[in-house]
Amino acid sequence: MRKLSTVNDLVLKLRDTRDLSDAELRAMLETDAFDAQLIAAADNVRRASYGTDVYVRGLIEFTNYCRNNCYYCGIRAGNAQAARYRLTKAQILDCCREGYRLGFRTFVLQGGEDMTYTDADICDIVAAIREAHADCAITLSIGERSYESYLAYYQAGANRFLLRHETASDAHYAMLHPPELSLAHRKKCLYDLKSIGYQIGAGFMVGSPYQTTAHIIEDLRFLQDLQPDMIGIGPYIPHRQTPFGDMPGGSLELTVRLIAVLRLMFPYALLPATTALGTIHPLGREMGLKAGANVIMPNLSPVGVRKKYELYENKICTGEEAAECRHCLDRRVEAAGYRIVIDRGDVKK
Ligand code: SAH
Repeated sequence: MRKLSTVNDLVLKLRDTRDLSDAELRAMLETDAFDAQLIAAADNVRRASYGTDVYVRGLIEFTNYCRNNCYYCGIRAGNAQAARYRLTKAQILDCCREGYRLGFRTFVLQGGEDMTYTDADICDIVAAIREAHADCAITLSIGERSYESYLAYYQAGANRFLLRHETASDAHYAMLHPPELSLAHRKKCLYDLKSIGYQIGAGFMVGSPYQTTAHIIEDLRFLQDLQPDMIGIGPYIPHRQTPFGDMPGGSLELTVRLIAVLRLMFPYALLPATTALGTIHPLGREMGLKAGANVIMPNLSPVGVRKKYELYENKICTGEEAAECRHCLDRRVEAAGYRIVIDRGDVKK
């Protein structure tokens, strides 16, 4: 048994210096001895930074076509069994209109790397959303494109970009992705996006195949360097129609613990309680909120396509209309002790 004073000291050190040594981080990540103190401290810091506010982002999964073959992802190009779909500009705008009515002030356009949407198409869609909803933030999550493309989307009106780095270890990156994809290029994209002026989101899966504590510590070090506005983490969840279909999924405990660590390291970061976390436990997102998360990203995609955007199996909230989802979430968030606000939810710094 670790002495209570040691536990407290380390949690306070993390809170006050926003940093720990690798050995200290390892100690904190590898046992549950710190959890109670860690989660309590994270909730206090979250309340000091953001009160009880929870920001919602309306997620529009506009295409599940993808040119890549990430070994963990259900919509990888090589999954011949995936039923593919694309949303039209009109369908995307309908999702935004409904979302706006429900109080969303951020729209996230996410998809596979589907190059049939040219730069002109993405700019056209972004500009139309910008025109219809001038007071909203527009977030893209469409993978790796060139600096010039990112610049064009920004100039068309996009404000934010989510691009999880997936793992900050080159060796681990190569275990999760085919050889044509590289961590170096993914990092370049993140630094490009930041230099253009986007608010950026990075992040990684917890418990992805072959992940070690050392890899997670590398992820934390990379995030300290990048200083993203948002950090999205969620448990890895296997998908049968991928090479990693038989690998074990990531744990609830470690994901929640890491959310708390991230809140103490990055007191002002936007930290989502992800759908993946809600998928592995019925109260996963609530646990995430109580450990320092302050963002939820409900699905705004048309109900007819939601099951098809299957990155992993058993994804929650694929059956309900956006309005039902929204009201259910209001209740859940309130029961957890927080409150969804109608706000763009820009990062506070
Ligand atoms: N094509 C975009 C969007 C990817 S989907 C891009 O490259 O950024 C969004 C995130 O879902 C991914 O970054 C990945 O971290 C996560 N994801 C993919 N497959 C998953 C799985 N099997 N379990 C949990 N999360 C997964």
